[in-house]
Formats: sequence, structure tokens, C-alpha cells
Amino acid sequence: MTGKLYVISGPSGVGKGTVVSKIMKNNNLFLSVSATTRSKREGEVEGINYYFKTHNEFEDMIKNNEFLEWARFCENSYGTPVKPVKDKLNDGIDVILEIEIQGAMQVKKNMPECVMIFIAPPSFDELEKRLKGRGTETKEVIDLRIATAKEEVKVAKNYDYIVVNDNIEEAVSDVLSIIKAEKCKKERVIEQMEVLR
Ligand code: 5GP
Repeated sequence: MTGKLYVISGPSGVGKGTVVSKIMKNNNLFLSVSATTRSKREGEVEGINYYFKTHNEFEDMIKNNEFLEWARFCENSYGTPVKPVKDKLNDGIDVILEIEIQGAMQVKKNMPECVMIFIAPPSFDELEKRLKGRGTETKEVIDLRIATAKEEVKVAKNYDYIVVNDNIEEAVSDVLSIIKAEKCKKERVIEQMEVLR
């Protein structure tokens, strides 16, 4: 019995980090830690939020096939180390990837059995307000992230589920419901239960 892979994407500032940290609290899920060339934000911890890499280190990881997927996003590189993901899935543990859309499409291509969830903002005004409120980025970076978000929402239709984050508790409950429903998919239950075969 292998675990299920969930890919969660959504524009920067949509609150996917908060949604993901809340779903991790009461579930037997493994959250993949990505590698990135982006600089560490205040409060971020190596190995918890990201593995912070230089551009050369990141290039070496690409050459050594260490990534399940990787992508350039707003002038930095981000990638999912493949080994921990495969190990957990083989141990029967469900895995969560919180990644942007180009990487998500690579995962969908390589592991089509994954479940893709897109977290959408209620509006772009609200998204801008949240990004400004976070206070971690300069105006240029916020403008770039808003422009990127406008492109990103166009691919939401390629995901299996879309959750609108108007209210954080409801968004968390929606994602948990998706995970619960996936656990009841007939293929999954039949694989587990001899009596149903
Ligand atoms: P941030 O710089 O705000 O932490 O992340 C920027 C974007 O990169 C977010 O959309 C986040 O989901 C995405 N991201 C984080 N890790 C990865 C990864 O390993 N691969 C890809 N493709 N995107 C990632």
C-alpha cells in the first residue's frame, strides 16, 4: 500500500502556507521540504522551511537528478528532493508538496496518480493586501508576484480541485475533506481490503 501524493499550489500570498501548516497539525502526512536559491526570510529555519542553496549547489542537485521537479520562480530556483518523497510514499505515508504551477505540471506528468489542489484568492485586491500585510517583500517583488499570480490562476483548470481561500478555517476544512474523500476512492479501499476483491 503506497501513500498518496498531494500537490498544493496557488499564488504567492494566497495563504497556502497557513493552510498547509494547519492540515499538518492533526494528520499523518509528510510535508516535503524544498531546496531553494532564495534568501532566507526572517524566522525561516534551514531544513524546516527550506534547504537554502547557492546557485552552484542547486545546479549540482539538478545534474545529479536529485529533484522530482524543479522550476524558476520570480528570479529564484525551487526544487523538490525526490528521495524523501519516494521513501515516504513507499512507507504508505501520504505526502504534501507545496509548489508553484510549473513544478506541479512536471509532477502531474511524471506521477499522474497525484492529486492536484489549487488554492485561489477571492480577488486580486485581496491578494495584494495580504502580500503587503506580510511585509516580507519589497514593492518590486510584490508587483512581480501579483503579475505572476494573474498568470498562475489561468492554469487552475488543470488541477483536480480548486479551493477558494476566503476564510482560512473553511479552506483548511475543504482541503481535509478532499484528503478524506481520496482515502475512500474505491481503488484505494479495494487495494487495502481483501474482502472487497
Ligand atoms: P516563497 O519564495 O514565497 O517561499 O515561494 C515561492 C513559490 O515557490 C511558492 O509558490 C511556493 O509554493 C513555490 N515553491 C516552494 N517550493 C517549491 C519547489 O520545491 N518546487 C516548485 N516548483 N515550487 C516551489
